[in-house]
Amino acid sequence: MERLRIAVHKFSSCDGCQLAFLNMGEALIELSEAVEIVHFPEAGYVDELAHVDIAFIEGSIVTAHDENRIASIRAVSNRLVTIGACATSGGIQALKNAAQSPDDWTGTIYATPSYIDTLRTSSAIADYVPVDFELWGCPITSQQIVTLVGALLRGVWPVDDTEKVCMSCKRAQYVCTLVTKGEPCLGPVTRAGCGALCPAFGRDCFGCFGPSDTCNAQGLANRFVGLGYQPERIARRFRLIHSTRTDWSVT
Ligand code: SF4
Ligand code: SF4
Repeated sequence: MERLRIAVHKFSSCDGCQLAFLNMGEALIELSEAVEIVHFPEAGYVDELAHVDIAFIEGSIVTAHDENRIASIRAVSNRLVTIGACATSGGIQALKNAAQSPDDWTGTIYATPSYIDTLRTSSAIADYVPVDFELWGCPITSQQIVTLVGALLRGVWPVDDTEKVCMSCKRAQYVCTLVTKGEPCLGPVTRAGCGALCPAFGRDCFGCFGPSDTCNAQGLANRFVGLGYQPERIARRFRLIHSTRTDWSVT
């Protein structure tokens, strides 16, 4: 099998999704035999504009420099795959998009706001260049990388799994926090992929993997109101990680 040339690029992000590569354990050894890592600064490889088969992109677009960089990277990449919430929907930092003016938040957060030079918004990579495949999650898992690379090595296009977290939760026979504790679990409208990690520990799902297909977010929000939660708190729960997704806009 021919080795795939890959690159891992960072934009505005916390680096958590890049760790899905570095935390693979033994699978990383197998992966390194199947691929040639051309650019991955966090692992010590730097050649940003080398031609590659797959460019993995972590992070959102928040500066004019980012806009130029992503266009250059797209031009030298056969396939471009976004990894994580930041790259697929703008991430937690896209909460700033709701501010009336950039000064609303820079003055609150930074001692010298005049040093901050960013775009008005934090945006998904797909808002700027064509994206071939999206891996959702905050963070993504190592298994998502292994599955995607394995499929591409065999010449098969990876399956976009849009099943809901509830399905993983039920298969694992975890106790439902929504039914038994009345907690505002987003599992019924969230993509699977995490293995229902939070319900496994008795916690409600925060929606890290983003909207599933055919999700009825407003219906779930209405259910939360019936449990006694305030609409503002419910809306914040839906906005936390994927605030740019209109299919999770609830009132
Ligand atoms: S998606 Fe989450 S874990 Fe990944 S880089 Fe963004 S903030 Fe970090
Ligand atoms: S705990 Fe959440 S994810 Fe699990 S079945 Fe209940 S609603 Fe679905």
